[in-house]
Amino acid sequence: MVRIRGLRKSFGANLVLDGIDLDVREGEVTVLLGPSGSGKSTLLRSINHLEKPDAGFVEVGGEIIGYRHHGSRLHELGHRTITRQRAAVGMVFQQFNLFPHLTVLENIIEAPVAVRGLTRKSAAVQARELLERVGLDGRESAYPRQLSGGQQQRVAIARALAMEPRLLLFDEPTSALDPELVGEVLAVMRDLALSGMTMIVVTHEIGFAREVADSVVFLDGGRVIESGAPADVLDNPGHDRARAFLAAVL
Ligand code: ADP
Ligand code: MG
Repeated sequence: MVRIRGLRKSFGANLVLDGIDLDVREGEVTVLLGPSGSGKSTLLRSINHLEKPDAGFVEVGGEIIGYRHHGSRLHELGHRTITRQRAAVGMVFQQFNLFPHLTVLENIIEAPVAVRGLTRKSAAVQARELLERVGLDGRESAYPRQLSGGQQQRVAIARALAMEPRLLLFDEPTSALDPELVGEVLAVMRDLALSGMTMIVVTHEIGFAREVADSVVFLDGGRVIESGAPADVLDNPGHDRARAFLAAVL
């Protein structure tokens, strides 16, 4: 589902992604770990073409994101095609990013109506099903500020699912939550994983990684320094940097 090869990205003189190779098979969950500044968010943003690579490429479902082949070179795609590609990749952020002036239901149906062209009525039917799936049926008329952080994040997940993405990216989805609200969001993510959703999750929740991930990838200084089955990477890291990081977050 995802194939990344030789991905490089700098901001000025700061080399942030230094030749990333990564594969995620359909239906699999990959957890991305690594210290602050190691390039995790930049890598997720590159998968959605929110960052343009300096070299290398990202493929999702066999399509290069943001570019098309032109002979042996890559040319950037037009805005419409990039919008279509982005619509197939959902993203859930640390800060939820809900529209504060829209109700839960309006937050969820906004993109399906604007981008997928659904009627408000059919989008609302789908939104209610999704709210039930994330344990929030009956909250469709609430505004984000009336919900707990855990509930807001579950709305954000429902909103991402409303676009029927083939891939979901999570960037530290529980890092902004009070500790007692983390479990309800992880439970929704675990259900999604069990339903066969392909997911890449940046998180420091090692228990989630151990229980739900098919593979764990450890990033340091913009490079993959460990990758493999959760037990191998979490219990037997080969690099001192990975060992020190895991000792600190466990
Ligand atoms: P992580 O998510 O692992 O903490 P990031 O991908 O957010 O790491 O950032 C990696 C490095 O890239 C950091 O040094 C950060 O300051 C830098 N960086 C990220 N985004 C930008 C940007 N838009 N402009 C300049 N520097 C950036
Ligand atoms: Mg980050």
